[in-house]
Amino acid sequence: MSDYELTDEQRMIRASVRAISEEHFKPKAAEIDRTRRPPKEHVKILAEHGFTGVFIPEQYGGPGLNLVDIVIIVEEVSRCCANTAIMVGCTDGATPRAILHLGTEKQKQAYLPKIAKGDLLCAWGMSEANAGSDIGNIQTKAVKDGNEYVINGAKLWCSGAQASDLFLVLVRLDSAPGLRGVGAVLVERGTPGFSVGKHLDLIGFRGTGMAELVFEDCRIPAENLLLPAGGMGKLLQVFNADRIATNPPICLGIAQAAFEAAVAHTKERVQFGKPLAELQGIQWKLADMAIELEASRALLYRAANRVDMGKSNAIDASIAKVYINEATRRVTDTAMQLFGAYGLSEEFPMERMFRDVRGMSIGYGTTEVQRTLIAREILDGRYSA
Ligand SMILES: Cc1cc2nc3c(=O)[nH]c(=O)nc-3n(C[C@H](O)[C@H](O)[C@H](O)COP(=O)(O)OP(=O)(O)OC[C@H]3O[C@@H](n4cnc5c(N)ncnc54)[C@H](O)[C@@H]3O)c2cc1C
Repeated sequence: MSDYELTDEQRMIRASVRAISEEHFKPKAAEIDRTRRPPKEHVKILAEHGFTGVFIPEQYGGPGLNLVDIVIIVEEVSRCCANTAIMVGCTDGATPRAILHLGTEKQKQAYLPKIAKGDLLCAWGMSEANAGSDIGNIQTKAVKDGNEYVINGAKLWCSGAQASDLFLVLVRLDSAPGLRGVGAVLVERGTPGFSVGKHLDLIGFRGTGMAELVFEDCRIPAENLLLPAGGMGKLLQVFNADRIATNPPICLGIAQAAFEAAVAHTKERVQFGKPLAELQGIQWKLADMAIELEASRALLYRAANRVDMGKSNAIDASIAKVYINEATRRVTDTAMQLFGAYGLSEEFPMERMFRDVRGMSIGYGTTEVQRTLIAREILDGRYSA
């Protein structure tokens, strides 16, 4: 297999997820955005077809698919409903991945089989009011008290929070400065002292149930510790793989849908006596969109495949994320332009796609921070063509 060529099985996964998404998710996408409702019922549909928790190994109840498979699934779901793609991340994202790679056997047994069935959704709380890109400034504290930890603090911008049952929470565990004092705990919904705040209404992804997490003397069993202080390097490695699995394929799916809609619109819309698509200036815009989509897909599938082959991925994930975040913003912007005033109307999906893509170059590590990570790899001699 070349770095990103798909196998027959992967083509079948794509066809199957596309059919499910076209039938069930696409017709609901506008309503989910308008009503700000996380589409949990779509998780059930995906679970019925075996498309939840797909990276989870068979011993914990999942099919043990690889990262390329996940990218295919997320891209196809996002092409029809980006908010549903975030729900996929609640079963395939950072939290279950961290449990698999860093958790105790008891934590894996307790959570992974339920996640694989789509019965337990997960979110992760890292960002705080004064800790965005600078996660070394995390202030939420977990203090050991006998067989428990007592958590106090608050997390911001937690995607999927209102739909989720289990939360990976980054906390300050000891007095060591910066990231060295930070670790992670698992907190279940319903734990006294823990509450999920009101919906945070961003420009896009309005149906993801994004919310604040609040901890007021919240006591969890000490066995819910996922990562002790000093281990953040390991968690950041998990986030690197997840950075490929969620944000870029979601962007790609949205931009692919915008592109397809723009092609159809320019073939139908007649101005000056002929379809827009017959004008060379319009054709060149369509060609540029296709070039950016293909380049994005090549980068993404190559990055995912390198992870599956066990090769280093730190720079691959960052390069793919930056390029795809920015290219898909350009593609959705051009698609909107090609729709004219219709593109700006809430009656049509274009403005939602434009809004949804915009935040993705901020979420999951901004494009500026990714560029800093790429530069560090180059300057430390870890990058070669
Ligand atoms: C759609 C979306 C989903 C999200 N989901 C989650 C989630 O599930 N869980 C969670 O914990 N958080 C989540 N976040 C929060 C996200 O992780 C933060 O927004 C992100 O880390 C940036 O932090 P900030 O917004 O505080 O911006 P800041 O860190 O304040 O940055 C502001 C600006 O300064 C730039 N900047 C900062 N530092 C540097 C630097 N060293 N060099 C150059 N430029 C710099 C940034 O690139 C940015 O342009 C989400 C955000 C979005 C938009």
